[in-house]
Amino acid sequence: MSLEPQRTVSELKELRTLTGDENGAQRVAWTDTWLQARGWFQSRLEHLPVEHHYDAAGNSWATLEGESQATLILGGHLDSVPNGGWLDGCLGVLASLEVLRRFADEFGGRPPVTIRLVDWADEEGARFGRSLLGSSAFAGTSSIDADRGRADKDGIRLEDAVARCGFPIDRFPEATRERKNAASYLELHIEQGPVLERLGLPLGVVLGTKGVERHSITFLGQEAHSGSTPMDARRDALAAAAKLALEIRSIARKHQDAVCTMGSVKTFPGIVTAVVGRCETTLDQRDLDAQVLAGMYREAQEASRRFAREESCTDQWSRIWSIEPIQFHPALLDLCEEAVREVAGAAYRLPSGPLHDAAEVARSGIPAVMMFVQSLRGLSHTKLEDTREEHLEMAVQALDRLATKAVKWICNAS
Ligand SMILES: [Zn+2]
Repeated sequence: MSLEPQRTVSELKELRTLTGDENGAQRVAWTDTWLQARGWFQSRLEHLPVEHHYDAAGNSWATLEGESQATLILGGHLDSVPNGGWLDGCLGVLASLEVLRRFADEFGGRPPVTIRLVDWADEEGARFGRSLLGSSAFAGTSSIDADRGRADKDGIRLEDAVARCGFPIDRFPEATRERKNAASYLELHIEQGPVLERLGLPLGVVLGTKGVERHSITFLGQEAHSGSTPMDARRDALAAAAKLALEIRSIARKHQDAVCTMGSVKTFPGIVTAVVGRCETTLDQRDLDAQVLAGMYREAQEASRRFAREESCTDQWSRIWSIEPIQFHPALLDLCEEAVREVAGAAYRLPSGPLHDAAEVARSGIPAVMMFVQSLRGLSHTKLEDTREEHLEMAVQALDRLATKAVKWICNAS
């Protein structure tokens, strides 16, 4: 039984039929549909010589014991956002399954190193707003005390939702045990953006995940009557915010892959007959280079202060969340580039704007790398998400080649 990339495409379609509806994928973590997807996945393992268990944080592990205890991990996530696409996350799991089958077959059930497949629990954070929940428990970077009280839109607490699935949150830290003997981690994912399609390339090598600076910015001016207040006497908080919303575009454009987004604006009193006295906004800035990110943050603050002054307002900044950029392992980047080149002819290196479980794995000190496959129209987190089937098959082949190279790399290192 050699590698059959077409089987991955068939299984992706089977999963879509089983756990999707006319609005898209419905495998939101800790729901019955998600549990159903996991049960289906487990049934795929039945005739393979693997041990399967769930760790304390709900991550699903299938282990193919090798000659060496040194372990290559392949991963992805079966959970989706509500009304999600058919490939986000589950492509990584099902392509890894095909690679696992190939290793089991080629080496009579005992490859040179141990191969493990992980389906991370709650990568998306779609229900409780906490992304990378399972992989951060694995990495030992989780924030359980902050997370336990999170609630979904129906008021159900995260702590209760995970316990219902059999994973009490107090035991989550035990998931770090799964790091034992981990020698490298590989993850295949759809790009979720338009870069590879624009370049006409099916596959890409992911340099790392961008760091994020996320702030709320409030401009304070003076509410005043829209009819009686002369233009030169106004302290218009929206005007200051609007200037910043335009300025962040040139701040980002100075750097090749940087992005800045002001994604929300609330005005107070927010009526048609009043000058805006208070304007609440948010700013999200991302880059792969920590210095670039810090520089953009500084520039945005300076611009914010300048515009506030120009409009006779004040500004207040507070950090919502931040994470440092994660660079993937240089030796694995080279192996990934070789694999992509062998299958697709050309290789291109690009950073990932979205965060991925691979970033948590890399943070825990395990050498990691990701591969992207082109997303049509760059769309994801929508039922319109799609990738050409021939590209999906190439991606399975390239992941398989990368896994073989990584096994050799692990053997040479140990
Ligand atoms: Zn994903």
